Amino acid sequence: MEETLERELLLKLKISFFELICGSRDSFSFTELLSQMLAILKPFMNADEVDFYRFEEWKQDLILEASTKKGGKEAIISPDIAAVQHAAGQRSFIMKPSFPGFEKYDLVMLMDQAGKLEGMIALQLNGSLQSSASDNFFEKVTSECGSFVQKISSLADAMAEEKRYKQLFRVTEKFHSTMDMDAVLGEIISTLKEVYPTFIYYLLLSHDHKGYEGLPVKDLEYDSENLTAMQSYVSGQIQFEDSLADRNSIMYAPLKGKQGVYGVLQVISPDSLVFPQNEVEFIKLLANTAGSALENAKLYEQSRKLIADLQLINETSHQLNTSLRLTDTMKFICGQIMKSFKAQEVGFIMIDSESDDYSVLQGSTGFFFSKHASKYIADVGRRIQREMEPLFIGDFDSEDEISSIHFRSIMGVPMIQSGDLKGFAIVLHEKPYHFAFETFKLLQSLIHHSTLAFTNSILREELEKMVVTDHLTRLYSRKYLDEKMKLSLLEDSQGTFILIDIDNFKSVNDKYGHQVGDDVLIQLARQIAKNIRGTDIGARWGGEELAIYLPGAPLEIGVMIANRLVDKVEKHTQPNVTISCGVSAWIKGQSDTTKTLFKRADQALYLAKDSGKNKVVVQKENQFDFMSTRE
Ligand code: GH3
Ligand code: MG
Ligand code: MG
Repeated sequence: MEETLERELLLKLKISFFELICGSRDSFSFTELLSQMLAILKPFMNADEVDFYRFEEWKQDLILEASTKKGGKEAIISPDIAAVQHAAGQRSFIMKPSFPGFEKYDLVMLMDQAGKLEGMIALQLNGSLQSSASDNFFEKVTSECGSFVQKISSLADAMAEEKRYKQLFRVTEKFHSTMDMDAVLGEIISTLKEVYPTFIYYLLLSHDHKGYEGLPVKDLEYDSENLTAMQSYVSGQIQFEDSLADRNSIMYAPLKGKQGVYGVLQVISPDSLVFPQNEVEFIKLLANTAGSALENAKLYEQSRKLIADLQLINETSHQLNTSLRLTDTMKFICGQIMKSFKAQEVGFIMIDSESDDYSVLQGSTGFFFSKHASKYIADVGRRIQREMEPLFIGDFDSEDEISSIHFRSIMGVPMIQSGDLKGFAIVLHEKPYHFAFETFKLLQSLIHHSTLAFTNSILREELEKMVVTDHLTRLYSRKYLDEKMKLSLLEDSQGTFILIDIDNFKSVNDKYGHQVGDDVLIQLARQIAKNIRGTDIGARWGGEELAIYLPGAPLEIGVMIANRLVDKVEKHTQPNVTISCGVSAWIKGQSDTTKTLFKRADQALYLAKDSGKNKVVVQKENQFDFMSTRE
């Protein structure tokens, strides 16, 4: 063939290829263009069949990717590549190839890029061209085809890239519209699956995370298997792990935000020796975006939690400052702790500054009043007194007894007021590691904020005990009564003691409220004051129990006064209540003390309650009389 003719033919080929690319800008498909290229080559080279093989470097295989033969099955040939390249020598094509799998072809054109084999076009020719065309012509055609394939392949890459970045853009938008960690993680996985369906993905997260249903989440732990993942987590850098044995390569991309690394994305590329470089950049970007989205979601969660914590503290201190009764206050705060911290038992223990004894405050949960509690109280108390520091035990080990109750999670927080240790709070749960460290911090701040209010109300109650008159009833205080009775036992020849308790008082409180209850107490106190003389002592015994001591009075007088009182109260209280009285008396010569008098009156009162209430019972010389002078 003449040189000018060859040049003309080559020009025609170029034009055809050019038109092919120009005409396909909108609906671009790599394999489609490849097939069309082969279809152009077939008449051009006067061939019966033209096939394109792609070279898979990792497997050292040639894979049939396109063919002019219709319905050609996918073929894989594994030739000795060194032999192929040797056969080509200095040229880029081989005439009449003889290496295995290619015997049926007349011409093989090798496409390579930077000296690396990319693929080849194999042709079965129709005789005439081979003899007439020059080597130079074949060389040129090979190079033309090579650059065409390269062009469409880079175009395909660019298009894929564009598509991926569109995905990334879409995903970023989504990330920033949600504050839900699960949603962010789910979105990462689904985007990756869409973009690279052949890869396998895992999210490696440190195990303080919970939830994530349906997500491929694995724990990120320090073990030999996950060394590379850990490295990525710690360094915040991308890491690769290529495994010849497993025939895969793995990429670890840290989910990194501005303040830290939140986990690692593990991407496994099966059947590849090294991780495909093209994808690295994209996955890295996605992981970074996800990292900051996770960070936002986490910060949001944290701030919400902080707000809830502050609300708890605020609400509690408010309650502490308004409530008057220590027991009510205690009940409230124990309830708050049980609810907010999901605790099983909450106790407040006060330390007596003189004797170093512990006392459990009323309002603590039931367990603290049982004998099993002493072990916990003593243990926590000892440590807190020694270290003056809060105590956080995840798995308390109780070596001694075979007790059915065993609390393994323990928090202990000292109550310190002006530098003095006043007491401590204990919070318990059976399950080990039940309380999170943040919970512990919150408890500390809660106790810190309540200690002042606590000690104030404890002080107030102590003070109340010390003063002579009770502020509510205006009767004498119990302490005063006690002192006067002791004196009377020494100086007088006899005396009578009456213990009074309102019947069914709880239901009055329940029905009308504490205020009305208090008012009934005041009414009762007035009745008492009206019915005794100036030397007699009416006192508030405690709670809704009142007492009268009549110095020098014999039992009969005491019984009369008690009965009169029962009668008056029944008639003159609003809302109407009744009372029960227990009476005891002493005469010189008997070895009575205040204690025995109290005890006997208390037993009598118990009997009065037990036998129908609204009555007087007398304890006299080891026997009880149901005495009534009432008509
Ligand atoms: P009972 O007939 O057996 O005495 O029944 P009760 O409901 O009166 O039982 P109890 O004596 O055990 O009840 C004591 C109740 O009195 C519980 C407490 O709510 C109430 N209480 C104690 N002190 C006060 C107080 O100072 N003011 C008011 N309003 N209620 C009090
Ligand atoms: Mg009572
Ligand atoms: Mg009562």
